[in-house]
Amino acid sequence: MTTNTQPEVNIGLVGHVDHGKTTLVQALSGEWTDQHSEEMKRGISIRLGYADATFRQCPEGEVPDAYTVDETCGEHDTETDVLRTVSFVDAPGHETLMATMLSGAAIMDGAVLVVSANEDVPQAQTEEHLMALDIIGIDNIVVAQNKIDLVDAEQARENYQQIQEFVEGTVAEDAPIVPISAGQGVNMDLLIDAVEREIPTPDRDPDADAEMLVARSFDINRPGTTWDSLLGGVLGGSLVEGELEADDEIQLRPGREVEEGGQSEWQPVETTVRSLQAGGDTVETATPGGLLGVGTGLDPAITKGDALAGQVAGPPGTLPPTHEQFTMDVDLLDRIVGENASDVEEISTGEPLMMTIGTATTVGSVTSARGGEAEVALQRPVCAREGAKIAINRRLGGRWRLIGIGTLRE
Ligand code: GDP
Ligand code: MG
Repeated sequence: MTTNTQPEVNIGLVGHVDHGKTTLVQALSGEWTDQHSEEMKRGISIRLGYADATFRQCPEGEVPDAYTVDETCGEHDTETDVLRTVSFVDAPGHETLMATMLSGAAIMDGAVLVVSANEDVPQAQTEEHLMALDIIGIDNIVVAQNKIDLVDAEQARENYQQIQEFVEGTVAEDAPIVPISAGQGVNMDLLIDAVEREIPTPDRDPDADAEMLVARSFDINRPGTTWDSLLGGVLGGSLVEGELEADDEIQLRPGREVEEGGQSEWQPVETTVRSLQAGGDTVETATPGGLLGVGTGLDPAITKGDALAGQVAGPPGTLPPTHEQFTMDVDLLDRIVGENASDVEEISTGEPLMMTIGTATTVGSVTSARGGEAEVALQRPVCAREGAKIAINRRLGGRWRLIGIGTLRE
């Protein structure tokens, strides 16, 4: 029997492509997060993956040796004690998928930066992801020095030193660096120990109005399902505050674009919570933190293919406003990091920007820019509160590059 524990904290897996993020999630959770056929074929994560893992401890034995994800331990199959259940948000490390990484970062309480021991440090997205954690303000970080099975002791030490030098002066400066082999399950106990110490479960208010950031949305029906057995659309994401219960009425913002008399307008969508999934179980009440699946009464045609990713859900009348344009205070980076590093030029009127706010990614055009602030008109509106953090990306050399952080004003 597994103890039914809801996940209470979201841990991001970030780092360069192929360094072993998805393998590490599998080693700890038993689940392979690259589930889409396209992802399997290409061998890379394209969307946000997620899986839960329960950290446990052998009643006998010393910490950190006693840490495990197994339900039993020792010769006599003693049952292990549950520490807590965590959700992993597995970000794609491919350079063109930075927007997906950034929208995942919105729900990360902390992150494991996976760095391959058999490559020079830093690789492009090692640097770019760490910078993203820094500007979004995720400072509970563990560095996993992965693939130590592929290097000898000397190379491992050299690589470790490179990592130390690389994180100096960054948000990960004091992060523990744990040598592991995700592929062979080596030092998972040490990694759990580091995560338990560095990434605590944040205090959240369960009595506040529910606010869920939607990171994924699905149609879970098999093709050919007849209408009378069709299941409603499913939302995947995380409750940043409050609780949700079956039968709760919820609203989604910005909702849907509706055409009326030749005019198009975004209108909130309302529905009922039909079922809740957390920690691999159906639950009556979903608590904040960790990843959550919400079965709704929505037409699955509306939710399929992540169509509602980036929206915010909660009780009607409590959600932040929808913005089709906004003004933000802008704090630009000095330099663009990663490949083709360069200085960051000021934002100019008329230029397109890609912005991530919460789990939403939207492209906007700058309508005015002056001294540390910019006004943008969005292609797709976003739902966000004043003071929300905005990751700002500029198109350079054919892809979007992170250039700074904004704060939503109005
Ligand atoms: P991701 O792009 O960071 O998610 O990387 P993956 O988890 O998909 O791993 C990329 C490749 O590295 C796969 O072929 C894995 O089997 C391999 N790999 C991951 N971890 C290890 C490890 O600890 N040792 C070895 N030898 N290979 C690993
Ligand atoms: Mg992956």
